[in-house]
Amino acid sequence: MFENQLHIVNETIVFSPFSSENIQVVIKREDKIHPFISGNKFRKLKYNVGSAIESNKASMLTFGGAYSNHIAAVASAGRLAGLKTIGIIRGEELANNYFDNATLCFAEENGMELHFISREAYREKEDQAFIKQLKQSYGDFYLIPEGGTNELAIKGCAEILTEADKEFDYICTAVGTGGTLAGLVKASEEHQHILGFSALKGNFQKKIVNKFSSKTNFAITDDYCFGGYAKIDSELIRFINTFRRETTIPLDPVYTAKMMFGISDLIKSGYFKENSRILAIHTGGLQGIAGMNQMLKKKQMQQIDI
Ligand SMILES: *Cc1c(COP(=O)(O)O)cnc(C)c1O
Repeated sequence: MFENQLHIVNETIVFSPFSSENIQVVIKREDKIHPFISGNKFRKLKYNVGSAIESNKASMLTFGGAYSNHIAAVASAGRLAGLKTIGIIRGEELANNYFDNATLCFAEENGMELHFISREAYREKEDQAFIKQLKQSYGDFYLIPEGGTNELAIKGCAEILTEADKEFDYICTAVGTGGTLAGLVKASEEHQHILGFSALKGNFQKKIVNKFSSKTNFAITDDYCFGGYAKIDSELIRFINTFRRETTIPLDPVYTAKMMFGISDLIKSGYFKENSRILAIHTGGLQGIAGMNQMLKKKQMQQIDI
C-alpha cells in the first residue's frame, strides 16, 4: 500500500516549556503519512490489508465508535486497495442521526457500509457467535479487531522506529489498545525507555505489550488521560492551540495532545534526567478535530485551531 510514498521526518520541537531544561524533544511526523490513513493506523493496516488481498477476501469488517480514526482509516484503505468495507458502529441512536458526523460521513463516502448496534451488542464484538452471525449477513470478510490491534498490526508498528532512532533515550507514544506501544517496545533497544500515555483510564494495555514482547523497558501512565477517552477540558485545548502556534505542529485532542501534555509536565517535574533525548511519536488522528470542534461548539467551549 503506497509504501514508496513513505517519507517520515523527525522534527526537533522548539516549544518554550521544553527549552529551559537541557532536554531535546523530537517528534516523528507519522501524521504526515496520509490525511486519513495517518500515523499508526497506516502501520496497523499495512500488513492486514495485504493479508486480506492474499486470502482473496472481497471485504474487510471492523468495529469502532462515532469519531474513530480507525474507522476512517479502514474505509480509506479499503477504497485504495479495492476492498469493500463494513463498519460496525457503537451506538444504535446514531443510525438516523450521523449526517453531521464528519468521520462517519467520510467513511460512507469512501464506500464503507455502516451498521449501527447498541452498546450492549457492541460488547460482544469478540464473541465467536456474533462474528458468525455477521458472516451470515456480510459474507466471508477479513476481520480487523477494534482499534486494529493484532499480530500483523504490531509487525507494522514495529516499523515506526528506524536505525537512526536508536540514539534516543526515551520513546513516547499515546496509547489506546496498546498495539502501537507493543510494536515500539518490540523494536526498541535495551537502553531505551518506552513511555505510553494512556488516552483512557487504566493501564490494562500492559497485557497486550506482554503478549507480543518479553521486554520490560516500558511503562504506561494514565495520569494525563483528562478523565477518560475523548474527554478534554479548556486547559488541554489551550495547550493544543499554544503548541500549534509555537511549533506549527497540530495535535489531535484524543491521543497526541494528551501525550505531549504529559511529556511537557514530566519535563517540568524533572522526571527526565539532564541531556535526555526524547522521541515522541505523532500517531496522527487529526481527522478527529472536526468532530471534537462540533462537540465543543455545542458546549460553548473554545475551538481547536485548524
Ligand atoms: C488509534 C490511535 C492511537 C492508539 O493506538 P493503539 O495502538 O490502539 O494504542 C494513538 N494515537 C492516535 C492518533 C490514534 O488514532
